[in-house]
Amino acid sequence: MPTPSLIDRIAAIKATNPDNLMARHFDPDYFAALPADRQTRLTRIIASGTEIPDSNMGAYAMAPDDYDTFAPMLDAMIRDFHAIPADTPISQPKDWDTGSQICDLGAIDPRLREVSMRVRVARNVASFPLPGAMDKADRIAFETMAATAFEALAEHPDFGGKYLSITPGSPHQIDDAEYTRRVAAHQMFKDMSNDRYLQVAGISNDWPHGRGMYISQAEDFLVWVGEEDHLRIMAMQTGGDLNALFARLHDGLTRLSALLPAFAVSDKYGAIASCPTNLGAGMRASLHIKLPKLTQAGQDLTRVTSAAKSLGLAVRGAGGEHSDAGQDGLVDISPSARLGVSEMQIMQRLYDGVAALWAMESAL
Ligand code: ADP
Ligand code: MG
Repeated sequence: MPTPSLIDRIAAIKATNPDNLMARHFDPDYFAALPADRQTRLTRIIASGTEIPDSNMGAYAMAPDDYDTFAPMLDAMIRDFHAIPADTPISQPKDWDTGSQICDLGAIDPRLREVSMRVRVARNVASFPLPGAMDKADRIAFETMAATAFEALAEHPDFGGKYLSITPGSPHQIDDAEYTRRVAAHQMFKDMSNDRYLQVAGISNDWPHGRGMYISQAEDFLVWVGEEDHLRIMAMQTGGDLNALFARLHDGLTRLSALLPAFAVSDKYGAIASCPTNLGAGMRASLHIKLPKLTQAGQDLTRVTSAAKSLGLAVRGAGGEHSDAGQDGLVDISPSARLGVSEMQIMQRLYDGVAALWAMESAL
């Protein structure tokens, strides 16, 4: 039986936090009609949204098939976040042919050749539970398997590099000072044990076991192990050439995929991710750009956030999600939708959106 307190609680959150997509799309009748074991599973999936009312999404999948099993609820949230109309089927196109559009930030303004560009994809291996449901042994087994794949990847001249682990006792372990330096350099991920969303979802459990990062010699191809998804695979560069950035990621992703067991993917949802915001291409392509006027020197993101939203872009702080802008107005701008849009479209949206924001900033 559904506990009345859970249903009441979600109704209260819906009233106080209308942007909590879990609360917005929670249907008490749907929940009540589920068998008891499915109610238990769904309660676990939506724990972040019920425990943290100001969640934006408010759900994390625990197993790849959660998306199909709980589609009546999760699809409504997914459509809302990724802006997929009710009469359009959810499906994921794939198009890495980013050469068909030339996106050189320097063509907008030569100064934009100095902005830091990053594009990452989320990937999960089908044979492991998703991170929220992994135990410590799963996390360590996953990392050991990934480290073997990185040894093979490192033999390729374009992808030579090293694996850095923060698992106590790992043969690849780095010290605290190097970890801190790599986080500050935006290469390594932050201490997840301080993140309430990830705690409630179980994703940060067993920290720092099973966590690490592969980094290429040129420090432009990186792979996170054991963050919000099994793998976050990314390219980072400056120079303004978005085509080259995407090509670098695509090449590394293709090579790494060949060295690992199959990823969890579906025709409908694309790459399966812990968070429904990351389904589809699983891709977040971002620029670290200074917008001092639009952000009041980084003091107030209201204006830039609403301008960005109308362009299909999200604004994050200089240290990533849930961080503040830099004092020079440094913010992280990225297209919000990842599902129903191809890799090429994401690159184009980032380019067009930043061109528009840059025009607004320059006019102030
Ligand atoms: P994601 O969820 O896409 O992995 P986060 O918001 O968690 O991204 O940020 C992860 C790290 O990546 C943070 O250190 C953030 O500042 C950094 N980052 C994001 N975009 C860029 C960029 N364009 N250039 C440099 N660092 C970036
Ligand atoms: Mg993140």
